[in-house]
Formats: sequence, C-alpha cells, structure tokens
Amino acid sequence: MKKSILLCSILVFVNCQGQTKKTEKEQFPVQKTESEWKSELSEMEYYVLRKAGTERAFSSEFNNNHKDGMYVCAACGTPLFKSENKFDSGSGWPSFDREIKGNVAFSVDYNLGYARTEEHCANCGGHLGHVFNDGPSKTTGKRHCINGVALDFIPNN
Ligand code: FE
Repeated sequence: MKKSILLCSILVFVNCQGQTKKTEKEQFPVQKTESEWKSELSEMEYYVLRKAGTERAFSSEFNNNHKDGMYVCAACGTPLFKSENKFDSGSGWPSFDREIKGNVAFSVDYNLGYARTEEHCANCGGHLGHVFNDGPSKTTGKRHCINGVALDFIPNN
C-alpha cells in the first residue's frame, strides 16, 4: 500500500513538472487560435499584437492624446497604462514612465541583434512594445515605448 502511494506521488510530481514546461506564450490566461485572433483584430492590430510588429512612428492618434483616462489592451481590454504616466518622448510612439503593475509581462527579444525588454499584455500575451532606460530621470527613468495600435483609450467619466 505504502509503495503504491509513493508511486502515485511520484507520478503526480512528474506530471506537474511536465505541465510547468510551457512555452512563454502558452502561459497567458487568454488563449485563442491564430484564426480567432485574425477575425477579432484589425490587420494592423494582428500584425503588432500577435506578430510583434511595429507601427510606423508618429502614426498613432495617441501620440498627442493628453486626455485623462486609461489605456487598455486593444485585444482583451486589460488596463495597461494610465494617462498620468504618459509623457511626450518625441520618439513617435506613445510613451509611459510606468506600467500598471501585474498587467504587463516582460520578456527579452533579440530581433535586432541585441537584448531588448519586450512588453506583453499579461492577460492575452499581445505584444505591446519595449522598455528602455532613457525615460524621465525625475520619475522612473523608464520609457515604455508602446505601439498605439495595441491600445484602446478609455477617457475618465
Ligand atoms: Fe490583452
């Protein structure tokens, strides 16, 4: 009897170990097929959020948006950035000095041949942009360089 309990415990342990061996993208709570994403998102949203593409600089309507409100994930609606943390970086992409903690996930990307910190929506895994260390020195020093097409804006009130 004791032996079978031990064997069961080992099997459960091995199984749990196996389940934690997921790829990064599979860990996000929202899981959809490529065709589901394609049908739900615009072509540009799909390119940026699901294919880690980059929108053209200065193309986002949010670059000069100075209204109070919340920036949420364009794919799943998760609140990602607050207007009070937005600043004019001059980069051509909406920029924030901090994210809403816990709602943004980070990974490393080597697409340009060197390490950059990539940002994802922590709920659906959608690609948002990258974080750099040349943000406002008076606050966090971080520049979250975000594709506007990956965001929706919800004004206060
Ligand atoms: Fe999302």
